[in-house]
Amino acid sequence: METNRDEGVIKFQYTLKMAPAPEKTEYIKLEKWRALFYKLNMIGEYPIEKVGFGNLSSRIGSDNFIITGTQTGHLAHLEAHHYTVVTDCNLKKGSVEARGMIPPSSESLTHHAIYEASNTIKYVFHIHHPQMWKHMIENEFDSIAENIPYGTQAMATAALEVLDGKTYGAFVMKGHEDGIISYGKTAEEAGKILLDIYRETCSRN
Ligand SMILES: [Zn+2]
Repeated sequence: METNRDEGVIKFQYTLKMAPAPEKTEYIKLEKWRALFYKLNMIGEYPIEKVGFGNLSSRIGSDNFIITGTQTGHLAHLEAHHYTVVTDCNLKKGSVEARGMIPPSSESLTHHAIYEASNTIKYVFHIHHPQMWKHMIENEFDSIAENIPYGTQAMATAALEVLDGKTYGAFVMKGHEDGIISYGKTAEEAGKILLDIYRETCSRN
């Protein structure tokens, strides 16, 4: 068991079982959207802290999900070995089990919380964008309150409330600076919502 910092905010623990990299068919849709988000600076790396941000996942079967590996934000394109499969999450302990060649994103617990909230959700995209984040707060988009630490049981409960039976949408994480999450039954649903908000934001500035 090793520990990792989550953007300097909380700690999470993971166990990584070494396994072959995922098949391309398992991550190709994530990679397509990721390349676009990278170009739009929704995925990247904070230059001073050298901390990566933005992570995408999709459900595999009923209990697992594939997610981008930790500290890959600076890469324009990912390869198979940069993706990893999360096989178990424990929100109470803050622990994650994964199999692959790279530790899972430190925000895996947040993704897990969304999948827990609805069985029909198959994709969860987490991006960072300061202007979109402000725009969503100012315009009262769905949000998770500032005092809720992400990747916790409280966050899972809050996600359940914010989703409120919706199968696709986006919300802003007020307590996680620049942080936005979208979700959907398909990658297109989850992706297009973010592009719409991006356009809305840019047309106002
Ligand atoms: Zn984040």
